[in-house]
Amino acid sequence: MTERKRILTGIRPTGALHLGHYAGALENWVRLQKEYNCYFLIADYQVSDYADDITRVREAVWEVALDWLAVGLDPEGSHFVIESLVPEHAELATWLGWFLPVAMLERNPTLKAEMEAMENPDDPNAERKSVPVAFYNYPVMQVANILMPRAHLVPVGDDQLPHIELTRETARRFNHRFKEVFPEPEALLGRVPRLVGTDGNAKMSKSKSNAIFLKDDAKTVTQSVMSMYTPRMNRTDPGDPEITPAFMYHDAFNPNRDEVEDLKERYRKGAVGDVEVKQKLAVALNTFLEPIRDRRAQYASNMRYVREALEHGSIRGRAIARETMEMVRDALDLNYLGKY
Ligand code: ATP
Ligand code: MG
Repeated sequence: MTERKRILTGIRPTGALHLGHYAGALENWVRLQKEYNCYFLIADYQVSDYADDITRVREAVWEVALDWLAVGLDPEGSHFVIESLVPEHAELATWLGWFLPVAMLERNPTLKAEMEAMENPDDPNAERKSVPVAFYNYPVMQVANILMPRAHLVPVGDDQLPHIELTRETARRFNHRFKEVFPEPEALLGRVPRLVGTDGNAKMSKSKSNAIFLKDDAKTVTQSVMSMYTPRMNRTDPGDPEITPAFMYHDAFNPNRDEVEDLKERYRKGAVGDVEVKQKLAVALNTFLEPIRDRRAQYASNMRYVREALEHGSIRGRAIARETMEMVRDALDLNYLGKY
């Protein structure tokens, strides 16, 4: 039997997960977990909350693990890894940092946007923050995360593509300079590579308060849907479903294609109100989320199982990390003292 190819992908523990995480990433993870040997990482070295609120990071680790279980990731076939329990990640990042030019980081649009948001928070009352040194390290950490289990495939949303390009470039440089240690990993985009926010913003994001969370109860979901941004002014105006968030969610989550097509057709003619479009969306989303919520509640009442999933997964993550670090040490000739 040939060994299964490996996936590495992850999420930062900044809170519970939302529909964007699902459609951009999780859905693929669930689909691929039988075919690949999967390392799902909770990237707790990489959250900017540390300086402010460490309790929030701790709680978010559980939230992420519960959401993973709720959507159907199986910790018995895959490995749920907590990054900081595998400190080899920090060691590998230290070495790889030498192969990643600052100019490449500065060209990275995702990083640029994050840094600007950090320096200029939209909230005028927010304390103006400077960028922590660790922030510069986080793309290097991400490269190290992906290369650590020598991953072949990285299923992610499209904001992550520049990071994967950095990873491929780093792998090429390392392999070329030393020894062939790392496969060049491929990115795999989700069915919806970037899910719009409920406010019409291009990306659903926790930090923008425009998210519908997988754990939201039915009433909260309905409220979020009913107050969703609508681009047209009156119910009799012809509308464009392509630019209307409610329709983007219908496309992503409503399996009743006939209903969606009928709504779109009437919407284009100005023959349906936004209320009807949204009510039907709320029903579709709640139907989709109900089994996820139920499973989440079951796991939440068995936190021991969740803890064991994280412990066992992190042990497996550490095992492959040690294997890789042996290869890296050999490539870098780090055992040189033993030669004399
Ligand atoms: P948020 O932006 O809500 O704060 P995050 O950026 O902290 O979330 P990450 O850990 O960076 O979350 O992302 C986890 C995965 O989910 C990544 O693969 C990312 O591309 C994907 N993802 C996050 N938001 C979306 C979205 N709105 N649409 C599609 N994919 C998304
Ligand atoms: Mg992100």
